[in-house]
Amino acid sequence: METVRVSVVTPDGAVYEDEGVELAVLKTVEGEIGVKAKHIPLLAPLAIGPARFLKGGKEAQVSVIGGFVEVRPDQVTILAEAAERPEQIDLSRAEKARQRAEERLHKQQEGIDKKRAEIALQRAITRMNVAKHR
Ligand code: ATP
Repeated sequence: METVRVSVVTPDGAVYEDEGVELAVLKTVEGEIGVKAKHIPLLAPLAIGPARFLKGGKEAQVSVIGGFVEVRPDQVTILAEAAERPEQIDLSRAEKARQRAEERLHKQQEGIDKKRAEIALQRAITRMNVAKHR
């Protein structure tokens, strides 16, 4: 089967590299896309969510905290604001971030930025889910 080269890069450096991915499943702001070899070239903004990379019946996941994906026929490059492999995720930190965000969302108080809390909640939930894929 033909494969694509995948790299996930953040401002702090490379987080994930794989030379032979059969299918990359990514969450763009317009919905989920599946990318295989020979995909048409594409540049798309990414939502907060897991990126999934499949090969040989196995799946690797990376938490992607926004950014862009550039797809070329033989290469998928994700430029993320932040990204983590499962073993890099501090689960208790993510759990605390989730609790903080939920408390802010449920407070009936002036001056609470609900949109910001919503986005923080998405980051935390994404990390908690990806952390399970060690
Ligand atoms: P927190 O409130 O815990 O700081 P956050 O969602 O505000 O979480 P970000 O601003 O998305 O954090 O990320 C800042 C930096 O911290 C990034 O380098 C990111 O990879 C890292 N990071 C955030 N949360 C975690 C986590 N649970 N485990 C490991 N690294 C994390």
